[in-house]
Amino acid sequence: MAKVLIIGAGGVATVAAHKCAQNPDVFSEIVIASRTKSKCDALAKAIGKPNVITDRVDADQVPELVALFRRHNPDLVVNLALPYQDLTIMDACLECGISYLDTANYEPLDEAKYQYSWQWAYKKRFEDAGITAILGCGFDPGVSGVFTAYAAKHHFSEMQHLDIVDCNAGNHGKAFATNFNPEINIREITQRGKYYENGEWHETDPLSVHKPLTYPNIGPRESYLMYHEELESLVKNYPSITRARFWMTFGQEYLTHLRVIQNIGMASIVPINYNGQDIVPIQFLKAVLPNPKELGENYTGETSIGCRISGKDKEGKPLTYYIYNNCSHHEAYLETGMQAVSYTTGVPAMIGAMMYLKGIWKRPGVWNVEEFDPDPFMQQLNKQGLPWHEIINGDLEL
Ligand code: NDP
Repeated sequence: MAKVLIIGAGGVATVAAHKCAQNPDVFSEIVIASRTKSKCDALAKAIGKPNVITDRVDADQVPELVALFRRHNPDLVVNLALPYQDLTIMDACLECGISYLDTANYEPLDEAKYQYSWQWAYKKRFEDAGITAILGCGFDPGVSGVFTAYAAKHHFSEMQHLDIVDCNAGNHGKAFATNFNPEINIREITQRGKYYENGEWHETDPLSVHKPLTYPNIGPRESYLMYHEELESLVKNYPSITRARFWMTFGQEYLTHLRVIQNIGMASIVPINYNGQDIVPIQFLKAVLPNPKELGENYTGETSIGCRISGKDKEGKPLTYYIYNNCSHHEAYLETGMQAVSYTTGVPAMIGAMMYLKGIWKRPGVWNVEEFDPDPFMQQLNKQGLPWHEIINGDLEL
């Protein structure tokens, strides 16, 4: 029996809050706090349980966070706001002695730079305070790391090549929309590509390397090499990996819109002055794009995210291994009102919180998910709506 405090009331937080409420044996009290309290209230109303209460916080302000934590005294803070708030929330957790979990690594507002160094730098302070921080516990990062840890534990004596493959074969019927926060999403996709090979990082022009990959139950989809944050922790935690890459599918229509958005300067994070007011183009763009939270109703198709790994099995023989989950947008919507991208992020965030609150993933310090035992998490994925499948010695195409 424990109290969880969720920060944020967007698509991912909506799913996580619903899933926490479905598991009252672990989450006896749920507090949802965000910048706009009316969104927390609407979410609590949709859940419709007396153990869900709401509050308001500007998570950029450490004193406001500290006051919030002291008002509610939760056992765990689950940060489902934006990556910009990671460090302020971690600071407040340290001040109050409360453990922390998030789904995306810290990004400075004025620089789209993805690295764990800022959060890893908190390790000693979290250790000294006797509290746990679990970083990147969505799907990717998150389940991608747990899948890799599971492969290492049960199948491989030596993992050599790792390819994380992320396909959204859904159709929301809009000309252009992003599946999670548009600002964070466009910053991520428009950055230079990067992959790891033979001890070095190699950069590529944005979305310049691509090939068709075949996804289960979906078929071939053009997949683009991108940098993704979990590559950094996975090559560190599994030093036998000689090559690690991340691929994501995009449709031609999406890429054309993205190119126009970039060419006309709307993806810029540099403020411009318009009629005496400073405006960040990508933040203005977010305001006019469809809200990812509203996409669910007519969303058809499914996502398929997994890890394709090759190396040596426990006996030293060559092995290829593909582990993945497929998630239907419509089923996710029927259960939580959100589409599958929010669902596949919010469910693992809830499971990570459950792992901490049950004492299974509780260890003072700052950790990436693959540093914990994957087995109890994998069991919960099957129970909580994200079942996984394995293909042994199939063609990885990579
Ligand atoms: P949304 O934009 O839908 O929601 C973000 C929420 O955070 C909103 O409720 C927003 O409030 C709130 N918020 C923003 N700034 C503050 C602040 N200063 N103080 C308090 N609350 C604030 O985003 P998503 O739900 O789509 O994404 C949430 C997180 O999940 C992001 O960090 C994203 O990067 C991550 N993510 C991770 C994935 C993974 O697989 N690991 C995949 C997809 C997303 P308001 O409504 O007032 O703006």
